[in-house]
Amino acid sequence: MSFTFSVGAEHTMARSGVFDLPHCPLRTPVFMPVATQGAMKGVTSAQLEELDCEIILGNTYHLGLKPGEETLRAVGGVHELQSWKRNILTDSGGFQMVSLLKLATITEEGVVFQSTHGGGDLLLKPEDSIRIQNAIGGDIMMQLDDVVHVLTTGPRVEEAMYRSIRWLDRCLKANQRPKEQCIFGIIQGALDPKLRDICLAEMIARDCKGYAIGGLSGGEAKDDFWKIVALCAKTLPKNKPRYCMGVGYPVDIVVCIALGVDMFDCVYACRTARFGSALTSVGKLQLSKRNFANDSGALDPDCSCPTCKQFTRAYLHVVATKETIGATLLSVHNIAYLLNLTRKCRKAIEENRFPEMVQNFMLSYHPDKKYPQWVEDALATVNITLIK
Ligand SMILES: [Zn+2]
Repeated sequence: MSFTFSVGAEHTMARSGVFDLPHCPLRTPVFMPVATQGAMKGVTSAQLEELDCEIILGNTYHLGLKPGEETLRAVGGVHELQSWKRNILTDSGGFQMVSLLKLATITEEGVVFQSTHGGGDLLLKPEDSIRIQNAIGGDIMMQLDDVVHVLTTGPRVEEAMYRSIRWLDRCLKANQRPKEQCIFGIIQGALDPKLRDICLAEMIARDCKGYAIGGLSGGEAKDDFWKIVALCAKTLPKNKPRYCMGVGYPVDIVVCIALGVDMFDCVYACRTARFGSALTSVGKLQLSKRNFANDSGALDPDCSCPTCKQFTRAYLHVVATKETIGATLLSVHNIAYLLNLTRKCRKAIEENRFPEMVQNFMLSYHPDKKYPQWVEDALATVNITLIK
């Protein structure tokens, strides 16, 4: 049966798992690259398949406007459109409430957007979000939720949390293809543990196929961030995948895996590549800097992606931030880096050496052993002590 999640090995809260999805089994923990408008910026489906990427993320708001539902239905969904044979997760369009807040009004009925592609207003109801996501055809759909900025306080947070529960019910009811496409509930409640607990209890009772921890990565203190992640991961059912939305910094990913999160997405890997930065096993490198001009070494000696196999740091220095190929080559590497990082965690969990892997990883990012306090505090709760 599809949409079952089986946990393999575990270390305290961290686990390796397999999520049975229609297009291929999804091995977790996993990083999911973002393909905003049916295409990864500068990276093709073939290149992603070469990296053995098992799932990508599509953006419902953009796909719903262009190419639009009618075209998506006519061509048989976004898998066909972008020639991608593996899994796709689509967001609800709700994230635009935060990022385009000036253009959005929120009512019980739904969200009113002003189209950025011209034309009039667009009302996005929970039912609309699912109808568009059904047309897109992603294996995992996200419920439409009422998003408030993470630092919001007062009655608005509570209102948005309860509304998100009501909208989850409307989304579940609206799904026309429950055998091919499942829906994840999104836990809301900003930084208030009591509201998070209420949301968790209500949404777990709905028995979704998976759950996302929403509303974080919006500029909150790291100390607040990890505590909410830990609280949610601890309460969510063990036999369902847990997805932390918008988390993409390597250190954050490793901490969240230790706390029990299975899935991640972020535009950071590609965005930072366009600015000439590479994520590597020795930290972040700014390739446009002059000290790479005569460096004939591989970009990341620990990486075997097509970029690292073929090009030197000296060549990447020439094209980084200047040429389209520079963004493509660095995007391919950065995606490969995050895919490999989550794979390394998976392997370490399975081989019963996850704490050592985390210790070595943190040491490579902080060779002076001056670890951020929040990292030490978070890892201490799952019995991982860093090397001093
Ligand atoms: Zn590489």
